[in-house]
Amino acid sequence: MVTISSDEERKFRGVPVNSGRVRGAVCLYSAERHKAVPEYSLSNEKAVELELKRFEETLLHCSAELDEIAEKVRQGVGGTEAEIFVTQKHIMNDPKLVQAVISQVVHERRNLESSISEVLSKYEERFASLDNQYLRERSSDIGEIRRRLLGRLSNKKTGIICEGQANCLNSKSRIIVAEELTADMIMSLDVDKVLGLVTEHGGITSHAAIIARSLGIPSVTGIHGIMEIIKCGDDVLVDGDNGEMYLNPSEELVKVLIPVEQVTIGDICILGTPDGMSVLANGSSLDDARQASAVGADGIGLFRTEILFMREDELPGEDDQYAVYSQVCSAMQGKPVTFRLLDIGGDKPLPFLRMRKEANPYLGWRGARFLLGNQDMLKTQVRALARLSTDYKVKILVPMIIDVSQWIEVKRSAVDAIETLNAYNRDNIEFGAMFEVPSAFLQAEEIFRQVDFGSVGSNDLIQYLFAIDRSNELVSQDYNPEHPVLWKLLSSLSSTAASLGKPVSICGEIAGREGYPTRLLDSGIHQLSVSPRLIPRVRNEMARYTGVLV
Ligand code: PEP
Ligand code: MG
Repeated sequence: MVTISSDEERKFRGVPVNSGRVRGAVCLYSAERHKAVPEYSLSNEKAVELELKRFEETLLHCSAELDEIAEKVRQGVGGTEAEIFVTQKHIMNDPKLVQAVISQVVHERRNLESSISEVLSKYEERFASLDNQYLRERSSDIGEIRRRLLGRLSNKKTGIICEGQANCLNSKSRIIVAEELTADMIMSLDVDKVLGLVTEHGGITSHAAIIARSLGIPSVTGIHGIMEIIKCGDDVLVDGDNGEMYLNPSEELVKVLIPVEQVTIGDICILGTPDGMSVLANGSSLDDARQASAVGADGIGLFRTEILFMREDELPGEDDQYAVYSQVCSAMQGKPVTFRLLDIGGDKPLPFLRMRKEANPYLGWRGARFLLGNQDMLKTQVRALARLSTDYKVKILVPMIIDVSQWIEVKRSAVDAIETLNAYNRDNIEFGAMFEVPSAFLQAEEIFRQVDFGSVGSNDLIQYLFAIDRSNELVSQDYNPEHPVLWKLLSSLSSTAASLGKPVSICGEIAGREGYPTRLLDSGIHQLSVSPRLIPRVRNEMARYTGVLV
């Protein structure tokens, strides 16, 4: 254990999960306050019977609890996020898992707590060791289920460590520090009072990270051992932009990182986006679209369709896809919506596709490459999107384009698909390429001659440009959006686009980081697509850039 003097400033590096900076007092959260699981043998049939009854009651109680949480999340956050808890309920009631616990009780004569702990820990370990990142991150769902079941049996819950004590900040705005950031943990808190989140472990594509982003909570993960170093009530500054946390930040540092002058959302809404610029929303659900519309987004710059389908049992057909997409367009009330074709692979395999395990999924069967190899999927989605064109302007964005010949192939398939439709309005359909692989930047001119628009995916671009796994907390120090090479590429891309009269936007996370809108505008990129919650702040920065706001 490290000891430090009480007011010494100290910086910890982790991995950014959600941007924004905030200062506040810490509340330590323990996922397992009561780690010791009672363990004993069942002496007779009667004891076995009672244990099975307890199991049945516990499953029923915890299922009802998960239903309740799912409903709360559906109302307060969104449908996609609520599905996390619906899935947890399904996993918890999975017949194989239930049977494995029963078998421990009946055949091994072990008490229920130790049977649950043994079976679920094994499942958790098995999932954690899988290569597939999506499934690996599901191991935290199993951990949550184990804790929930054991919590019910012991009647002791996970929670704030100092809860109920005199120094507990439970009812005040605070920064939560935990070993692992789980979706369940966030939702068990009064989220309006959570200023920031800091955790030791957890992938940036985990469910919890998705929820933290939806809620706009500045968050950092990957600060190993932090639970041993700080205590409840400590003064910290969370820098979600850079993935850092400062303990006992000096007033000078606070002034630099969190400047005081702030403009209210009201001011921004009155001002609107300055001429020649757009602030668009990134989204992946109908709720995101509604939120984007509510904050006055100028459109949706990136709708991640693969996330919409990640929790389905199978890929919806053309009619079902069309129904969801048209709801999104209708929520945006005529403002342009850019739908990205399924960007499957990398850290986003669709579970029902049973994709082959790959040693390097980020360099494998993903993006446009995947679409070209799955023509049915590509054409079904394009048809569903093109049908919108009778009522709306629709922008179709192709992920991970590597060069112009790949673009031509995808476009040909897409046009073939559209021509099979009875009703569509070709004038209302635009096609765009994502610029997120360095080779596409080197053929920017040829690509821009073919496309209607381009969009920069800086998350992947940084990954491929600097050979740095975007979701690996161990190498996060090299994930550096400040690198001049990146900015050279961005400026060159925007001038190529301008010379050909084609619009270019950016939809990677950097567009929403404080200070970056200014730099992007300087680089000639005037359309920024960010999480809906960041829209007022980004618009504010744009207004300041043009001098409308001082
Ligand atoms: C990106 O790569 O920057 C991007 C916006 O796409 P995603 O994060 O979904 O890969
Ligand atoms: Mg990408």
